[in-house]
Amino acid sequence: DRQKYIRNFSIIAHIDHGKSTLADRLIEKTGLLTQREMKDQILDSMDLERERGITIKLQTTRLVYKAVDGHEYMLNLIDTPGHVDFTYEVSRSLAACEGAVLVVDATQGVEAQTLANVHLADEQGLEIVPVLNKIDLPSARPEEIIEEIEEVVGILAEDAPRISARDGINIEDVLEKIVKSIPAPNGDEDAPLKALIFDSYYDSYKGAVAYVRIVEGSVKKGDKILMMAANKRFEVTEVGVFVPGTMPLDVLSAGDVGYITASIKNVIDCRVGDTITFASRPTAKALPGYKKATSMVFCGIYPAEGESYDEVRDALEKLQLNDAALSFEPETSVALGFGFRCGFLGLLHLEIIEQRLEREFDLDIIATAPSVIYRVTTTSDEVQMIQNPSNLPDPTEIQMFEEPIVEARIIVPNEYVGNIMELCQNRRGVMLHMDYLDPRRVILHYDMPLNEVIYDFFDAIKSKTRGYGSLDYEFKEYRESDLVKMDILLNKELIDAFSMIVHRTKAESRGRQICERLKDVIPRQMFMIPIQAAIGNKIIARESISALRKDVLAKCYGGDISRKKKLLEKQKEGKKRMRQFGNVEVPQQAFLSVLKFD
Ligand code: GDP
Ligand code: MG
Repeated sequence: DRQKYIRNFSIIAHIDHGKSTLADRLIEKTGLLTQREMKDQILDSMDLERERGITIKLQTTRLVYKAVDGHEYMLNLIDTPGHVDFTYEVSRSLAACEGAVLVVDATQGVEAQTLANVHLADEQGLEIVPVLNKIDLPSARPEEIIEEIEEVVGILAEDAPRISARDGINIEDVLEKIVKSIPAPNGDEDAPLKALIFDSYYDSYKGAVAYVRIVEGSVKKGDKILMMAANKRFEVTEVGVFVPGTMPLDVLSAGDVGYITASIKNVIDCRVGDTITFASRPTAKALPGYKKATSMVFCGIYPAEGESYDEVRDALEKLQLNDAALSFEPETSVALGFGFRCGFLGLLHLEIIEQRLEREFDLDIIATAPSVIYRVTTTSDEVQMIQNPSNLPDPTEIQMFEEPIVEARIIVPNEYVGNIMELCQNRRGVMLHMDYLDPRRVILHYDMPLNEVIYDFFDAIKSKTRGYGSLDYEFKEYRESDLVKMDILLNKELIDAFSMIVHRTKAESRGRQICERLKDVIPRQMFMIPIQAAIGNKIIARESISALRKDVLAKCYGGDISRKKKLLEKQKEGKKRMRQFGNVEVPQQAFLSVLKFD
């Protein structure tokens, strides 16, 4: 039957081990596109991704492969993100597959994200197909790395294809492995429709486009469908597959991966994780769906001067459609007015959402200091989860103040162990244990406060290991901690958007750092501006921005008209990204830039 010739798989890898390059090679080898049509890294389509070299949104594409056994196979490749922030999206895409190709760089070996991804694939019960990449490099050690995979990952890797994704060496071996090792889907084609929505996006003509894995039954244009969790009914307007653009087909059946459109205007009705079935002949039970992604990091997002609150809300709703890990609710700030408290998977996720709002929706926004969720028990025994430092009860009413702790696994070459231990200690980490992975590398296990991890910990590890260190972490527990709320005052005025919760021992140095950064990013004005960091009424750090000297201005306002015009234009341009506090103008970039430590 037809399902015998379908394979649904993802490629998983530690970042930079060659997942995107291999995906491109597979697309090329299956003859879907000609070499000329192959753009660099087809699957990483978002601009942001290309700049950062990471995969953010999942992409899906169908490959047609004529195997050695003479049969033509339909391979559905579902891309997964490779960054520690996006574990949740990885498990989402894996739920639509039967197998995963595990790419390991033969010069680097097993890394933190290799282990994390294998763990996720295991949880979904997937067949894992190991592949050794970059064998073209002289420093490749395929035999050693195979041993490492068997020992550390715990899967057989002896006959893993040794490939070069870059040079296109042994790519057919990978395709043959996919066909031979990954099980075919085997859903009942005659049962009522049961389809899993594993991603979606909004198209202004077609409405919400649902990426689906058909688990049972089949679906075609004109079918009346029911979104089981949303409890909404629609009529199917189109079904098809990704090649990687959309290509309409007559029907999608059990085992297929493709898309469904149904003039779904309200993005909320096409929720990732929901099950689609027939309205008149529903399946008995919905698929388990996804655990709700838990946001780990929160911050306020506010429209910049002159932007509309409604437009920001609209944009957030659209982004949320295919990014269920993004959460938001309205909040108000004394300094910034009406905005939203948003939840993210991590700091990178936050930055990406911020940039997408600016680029894709052309919105100027201000993001406030990110914060984790603290647990506060008041003196009246009430437990409060605090996402926003401004909502913290008065210190005299706090009985117990707890913060989230994560267990971090950091893999580094021997020579950087000292650097990393120092870094972790500075970030209040507690070492659990340290093991040798192979003679050259160790894996360090640490308990770390999440609020130390969200501020650039990943980048700090990279910079202290010349890029060789890798990190993975997961939530462990809440633990009591000596925390305080630190406020920032500009020109004696408290700016609530800058308030943050810090460990008492860190308050002074962080306060000083923030004052210094603000001093650098806030332009000088006609008057002197004091910048202060305070805990309650106590000032713990201060800086000041001196006033502009008169003669500087005089020069600008001299006779040269064109120069004056240019200056005014420049000021206008800058204005857009400024925010007025009392009579002090703060550039938008100040809000995130002050938060990078080390
Ligand atoms: P991803 O982060 O796993 O998607 O990794 P990429 O596919 O973006 O590859 C990361 C880097 O490794 C890029 O600079 C690639 O050109 C390079 N690369 C990928 N595969 C190979 C390979 O087989 N040999 C060599 N020498 N470089 C490779
Ligand atoms: Mg990639």
